[in-house]
Amino acid sequence: MAYDTHNIFAKILSGEIPNNTIYEDDFVLAFYDISPARKVHALVIPKQAYIDYTDFIKNAPPEQIVGFHKGVLKTVEVLGIHHEGYRIISNTGIHGQQEVPHLHYHILGGEKVGKIVA
Ligand code: AMP
Repeated sequence: MAYDTHNIFAKILSGEIPNNTIYEDDFVLAFYDISPARKVHALVIPKQAYIDYTDFIKNAPPEQIVGFHKGVLKTVEVLGIHHEGYRIISNTGIHGQQEVPHLHYHILGGEKVGKIVA
């Protein structure tokens, strides 16, 4: 499957659609989810075009994979939830019920987030 250049997160990256930015560096953009599922609900996306976790880990150069994950932790620290804990989720494909086909990690926290699958 080819990367859909018109997906909503591609439009956020290009500045076509606004976002509520939490943290940004050369590798990631982190912003608040428009429809928060928990007290704190952030999304972290790579600046480069990858469809999902599989695409990213298979095809991204190591510096992007490291940079992305460091950006995820940086986001958690900026959110101030690193001491109490948090959950990272990345929905992938049809069974993962991924809606937006640009890799993203959900960061959920600010309260006990509940069982792993509702
Ligand atoms: P997923 O189902 O894992 O693909 O998650 C997509 C997430 O993107 C959902 O939690 C949506 O609420 C969120 N979302 C969709 N559009 C926007 C937007 N414009 N700004 C912020 N979050 C969004």
